[in-house]
Amino acid sequence: MNKPNVAVLALAALLVAAPALARPAERWANSENERKSDAGEILYRCGTDETGPRVPVLQAQIDRLMAEGRFQAGGQIPVYFHVIYSGSEGNVSDADLDAQILVMNRNYAGRDYNGNVVSGAANTGYTFVKVGTSRTNSRKWFKMTPGTGPESQAKNALAVSPGSTLNIYTCKPGQNLLGWAVFPFSSQAGTNQDGVVIHYGSLPNGYLSPYNLGGTATHEVGHYLGLYHTFQGGCDTGSCSTSGDLVCDTPAQGTATSGCPSGKDTCPATGLDPIHNYMDYSTDICYTNFTAGQDTRMNAVVNQYRSWIGNVRVANGGSGQNARDLAGTATTFRAVPNPFNPRTKIEFSTRAAAHVSVRVFDIQGRLVATLVDRNLEAGSHTADFDGERLASGVYMMVLRVRGEAPVVRRISLLK
Ligand SMILES: [Zn+2]
Repeated sequence: MNKPNVAVLALAALLVAAPALARPAERWANSENERKSDAGEILYRCGTDETGPRVPVLQAQIDRLMAEGRFQAGGQIPVYFHVIYSGSEGNVSDADLDAQILVMNRNYAGRDYNGNVVSGAANTGYTFVKVGTSRTNSRKWFKMTPGTGPESQAKNALAVSPGSTLNIYTCKPGQNLLGWAVFPFSSQAGTNQDGVVIHYGSLPNGYLSPYNLGGTATHEVGHYLGLYHTFQGGCDTGSCSTSGDLVCDTPAQGTATSGCPSGKDTCPATGLDPIHNYMDYSTDICYTNFTAGQDTRMNAVVNQYRSWIGNVRVANGGSGQNARDLAGTATTFRAVPNPFNPRTKIEFSTRAAAHVSVRVFDIQGRLVATLVDRNLEAGSHTADFDGERLASGVYMMVLRVRGEAPVVRRISLLK
């Protein structure tokens, strides 16, 4: 390693420290962003930090990726929930989390909260599957806010495979925030600090009406996939690819929307405000769509910064659920039996002679076994897996065929 340049380091420290001196709350906690629940609780819709470097999406870059056949449109995103509660408050049920997954799947498929197709809404191709849940009773973490010690500690303790999993934390953030997220191009992306935090009262059927249909998670995941607020930059009418939200089919907005007005036009030069867009600040029932431009931006950003999405197909190899169908892969890859104790046979097929590996990881992403790692002819193959020395629990087995996207299956060891 080179000897560090002390002057440069000191300057860097100063640059980093300067914004931190301002109270973190000032970024979002102002009267313009203030909202109220039906019960009168003051709320701020979003604490995502948009102050970092702006990342444009270059059409040339999209064209190149498409030409190379590397442009993934959408993909299945494994979601690991972390329920942080305090005593009797906030320990939401698995059913609540499942309902949130369903809402995200609908919203990202161009459907409303009830599953009805919304005319003109983008079907983004992103789907979500719950792969696990942790539950932690912590009064301190329960009240965490962005950029503070409790957030850092909670995420460091709880994050699961942040380089291949979306971690969503539910809690009751301090300073009345409904949620926040880490951008794909943030230095925190892929680290334990990555992910999305939402107020538990914003889950479907949560107590924070009219912010309790699950729209908060849809909004924050939009940030996680690279979208800015539709009102970013106000009425700045420069080129749509260099100003505002860097998306060309969302009209500029002078202000964030409050409630669900029948019409709003703060920047007449660009068209009516996109008050029904998931990336505005409207109430949940007002939210109905992402645009095609936002879909393209998400795909381009994800291809560059979260390329594991779309490459990794997750499916539940055991239960009767149709996750495998959702994954859209025809590859045979399963464990028989599953669940198993302690031995199972892994069956898979390859379409051509190729180098193949089959590895098993625990839920923390640690390698526990390499079952295959060699050249194989095309056809059907099997490998035996013995979990004698392993603890009961969920494991991920990953099939990699050189030149193809990896395939992931969940297997359960029940002792
Ligand atoms: Zn936001």
